[in-house]
Amino acid sequence: MVMDRVGGPLEVRAVPDPVPPAGGVVVRVHATGLCRSDWHAWAGHEDIVLPHVPGHELAGLVSAVGTGVRRWSVGDRVTVPFTCGCGRCDWCLSGNAQVCPDQEQPGFTHWGSFAQYVALHAADANLVAVPAAVSFEAAAALGCRFATAFRALAGRARLVAGEWVTVIGAGGVGLSAVMIARALGARVIAADRNREALEAAMTVGASHVLASDGAGSSGIAARVHEITGGGSHVAVDAIGSEQACADSIMSLRRHGRHVQVGLLPPAAGNPRLPMARVIAWELDLLGSHGMAAADYPAMLALIQSGDLRPQQLIERVISLDEAARLLPGLDRARPAGMTMIDPRRP
Ligand SMILES: [Zn+2]
Ligand SMILES: [Zn+2]
Repeated sequence: MVMDRVGGPLEVRAVPDPVPPAGGVVVRVHATGLCRSDWHAWAGHEDIVLPHVPGHELAGLVSAVGTGVRRWSVGDRVTVPFTCGCGRCDWCLSGNAQVCPDQEQPGFTHWGSFAQYVALHAADANLVAVPAAVSFEAAAALGCRFATAFRALAGRARLVAGEWVTVIGAGGVGLSAVMIARALGARVIAADRNREALEAAMTVGASHVLASDGAGSSGIAARVHEITGGGSHVAVDAIGSEQACADSIMSLRRHGRHVQVGLLPPAAGNPRLPMARVIAWELDLLGSHGMAAADYPAMLALIQSGDLRPQQLIERVISLDEAARLLPGLDRARPAGMTMIDPRRP
């Protein structure tokens, strides 16, 4: 799926097959998720080189191996975080490839996975083996939104069982956060403007759902304070808007932790935040950016035990052609789960 210009139509057409870079592999894509980050790249919010192939949440089979790769061979079932570290710097060596200064991101820094084949860098550092019991669709769902939600709650907010978590936005990453928070023993409130999304949130573990109209001051925070008797311990902006971010911060109790997961591209201007509340109540504002391959084993263990079921978040599986039509409208879409692409579909 080729993007020839920012904001233009996307075309599915034949291009040369990628070759594995030194230290990297080529993966035959079996499943790849359609994500709002793809829309941001299409809309010109990311530095990309045209023509471009989007797609950064993927799973499939290794189809070619570059020089110097030790851990992987043709035919291996693999997935990869969307933040691929260089594998050599101090951040990567300490297990923090998600903040590697030289990271590669398929679908952003080079051609991505909305294709039959995708090239991936530093395979020994970044690839993750997909157990036979985990489907390619479920594995692809991990790469961006699910893993990001997992790291946001477990790694950044250090969520403790019994705490209240409020999730603003119940799309792909929001529903992932609801499911993960519940599995980690939290009580979860989800807010969204879409009724189907709220029903999905109940299905995956929210104990309360709040309908927001998405316009102006939404009253979400006041209702969270009522339900929780003083505010949420942890709150997540899973949309990426000034309103969602403010709702998340204002729904917290004293010493609460806000995690920013939804993207707030600088092109739209820096958001105005209720910093007076942050100061007075000593709130923590945390950023979260994907998750390194090093952190996957703990998450995969919860999937294999059945405590986490990312496959439940997949709303539908579509072809590349359908995805090319859907992508430009993704900012206005009201998904109740994840859309997965199978590039092998006609
Ligand atoms: Zn994504
Ligand atoms: Zn690095």
